[in-house]
Amino acid sequence: MSFRISPVWWPVLAVASPAIVPWLLIRNRHFQDDCTRATELNHERISQAQPLEMPELDFLDLTVLVEWKAAEGFIGDAGVSYLFKTELGSMLYDVGFGPTRPALSHNAAKLDFSLDQVDALAISHLHADHIGGIAAARSRQVTVPDKLMSPKLKPCFLPDRTEAEGFKTKLVERPQLLTAGLASSGPLARSLFIFGFTEEQALLARVKGKGLVVFTGCGHPTIEVVLEMVGRLSKEPLYAVGGVLHFPVSGGRGNRAGIQFQTIIGTGKPPWQRISDEDLSRTITAINSANPKRVYLSGHDSCDHALDRMMRELNAETEVLKAGATYRF
Ligand SMILES: [Zn+2]
Ligand SMILES: [Zn+2]
Repeated sequence: MSFRISPVWWPVLAVASPAIVPWLLIRNRHFQDDCTRATELNHERISQAQPLEMPELDFLDLTVLVEWKAAEGFIGDAGVSYLFKTELGSMLYDVGFGPTRPALSHNAAKLDFSLDQVDALAISHLHADHIGGIAAARSRQVTVPDKLMSPKLKPCFLPDRTEAEGFKTKLVERPQLLTAGLASSGPLARSLFIFGFTEEQALLARVKGKGLVVFTGCGHPTIEVVLEMVGRLSKEPLYAVGGVLHFPVSGGRGNRAGIQFQTIIGTGKPPWQRISDEDLSRTITAINSANPKRVYLSGHDSCDHALDRMMRELNAETEVLKAGATYRF
């Protein structure tokens, strides 16, 4: 198991510890309070959720614009951008690191994609790897490369208050139909130590002869909570679960300066605890008991060790999503 913070940093941490330790203790108090608040809020939302009238779709196609793994000729990155198409329209889900890294622009150009071709944009949550980069996350402003923008104002469905210049922002406050026959789980919360209280929406669709397809953005609320909500929204059988489950067990993606940020931030644990194989085992058991036929894993914040375990231990037919590839449901 690798060091999450390189030993090179340890003397710096030791010198800074009189400042870091009190900050960690204060932060931990907020974090624990938010854990309770998120659990209660999710429970309330799930218990109040009503079944959604989702159209039965003839097909659902997913083309992956940004993912960690990539097909030949496409750029892989630790962000997410998924294009969903149905016979009723299309919607882009997340914009990766936006214009700040080459993946989205390069892959979109290769696929001849621009936002002109979709009916709407939906953002899973407001983290840099989904909303368009670090500056976008700091300023709470969805940021898309200029070349991909449409001159028409398209709706942008958001799980929390944010700006999205060039779009008609629509705050999603509860489960609802969005566009193209796709629905939102509504915001589901998670307390994160560094990022604080985080709201995230998953997408779901109902495909004829198959059942429900559910996709997460970063998987912060946990797939268990997402599937509990989905179970309230539809009694259709679960056909496929896809997207991000957030398991940087043996290491993170996009490590910088000897620090594995994904293993420290965004895990739902204090920085001194790491996501473990036991955590992953619990999630594998939960997915197996939900019994999807197919699982499409994201490598953007799950390490290869976690992906390998899920490929071996999930009962469903399982594959890892690749940028540039199209999947039909
Ligand atoms: Zn995230
Ligand atoms: Zn993410």
